[in-house]
Amino acid sequence: MKPPRFEYHRPSSRDEVAALLAQHGDESKILAGGQSLVPMLNFRLAHPDHLVDINHLEGEASEPELGDRWVTFGPLVRHVAAERSLVVEEEVPLLFEALRFVAHPAIRTRGTIVGSIAHSDPAAEIPAVLTALGGEIVARSARGERTIHSDDCFVGPLINALKHDEWMEAVRFPRRAEGEGFAFEEFSRRSGDYALCGVAAAARPSGSGMNVTLAYLGVGVTPQTIEVSARPVSEYQHPSFFGELEGLVHAELRPYDDIHATGAYKRFLAVRLGVKAARRAVSMGEPA
Ligand SMILES: Cc1cc2nc3c(=O)[nH]c(=O)nc-3n(C[C@H](O)[C@H](O)[C@H](O)COP(=O)(O)OP(=O)(O)OC[C@H]3O[C@@H](n4cnc5c(N)ncnc54)[C@H](O)[C@@H]3O)c2cc1C
Repeated sequence: MKPPRFEYHRPSSRDEVAALLAQHGDESKILAGGQSLVPMLNFRLAHPDHLVDINHLEGEASEPELGDRWVTFGPLVRHVAAERSLVVEEEVPLLFEALRFVAHPAIRTRGTIVGSIAHSDPAAEIPAVLTALGGEIVARSARGERTIHSDDCFVGPLINALKHDEWMEAVRFPRRAEGEGFAFEEFSRRSGDYALCGVAAAARPSGSGMNVTLAYLGVGVTPQTIEVSARPVSEYQHPSFFGELEGLVHAELRPYDDIHATGAYKRFLAVRLGVKAARRAVSMGEPA
């Protein structure tokens, strides 16, 4: 298949991107790594009149940047740069662990971290990681800049909180704090496929125990979270934790049937993967 007709724009600065979006708004799409957008164009699932190719922006970082509180990804940091980054390995270990589950090396060579967030696929790994960690998106338009918390970013399948004239100029992941622990688990039929279900777990010290945020992918129209209340680490390892998480999953997740699996099977996976991820995350962290 060939893509539909569009007018191609090649801005060289962030201001130019904002100006193009102010002018063409709803009829335009940003082209980053193209790993999701180009197939969608070729299948005629997207038909923008204007394509804004950001790959030629001048002076953009190709590596994640370490700040006081955040590790920040500019719009042209590719997955491969993140998976080879010592900063990501040490400061955002959950993202580091999840990255190897994203597609295949060839796709990660072009795909961008910000593009994965902007694409907002509920079956994708990186939106779930950002949700578990409580990250932020910096949205930019000709009107200025605003910050969107990960809880407010994902609105529906492939739909996010960006306005028609905004783009994502950065995504920030919080740096690991003392005592925190993380784990990522997913199940897919073949390596590199989108998972039937997956979960990003972030364990945080609380009192004399740990609480855990589980952010699931593949079980709803956006990343779905379950909060496991604070308890001693030993309780996570106890057999009764399985039954407790099973109760939470049944109460809070409503996975849909699709061509790959039934909702009931995804719920089965959500319990098992959630228990495994929570246990690993708390064993990596340390109670206060
Ligand atoms: C065979 C295959 C398997 C894959 N498997 C997986 C997988 O297992 N897990 C997974 O998570 N992903 C998977 N992907 C998708 C891949 O990770 C994409 O690279 C990623 O989803 C999008 O990143 P990109 O930079 O290529 O974005 P693009 O394809 O360029 O853009 C994707 C969308 O985001 C928008 N966009 C991009 N950047 C910005 C920005 N800065 N501001 C505003 N909007 C923006 C675009 O307009 C478009 O709507 C797979 C892709 C393929 C082809």
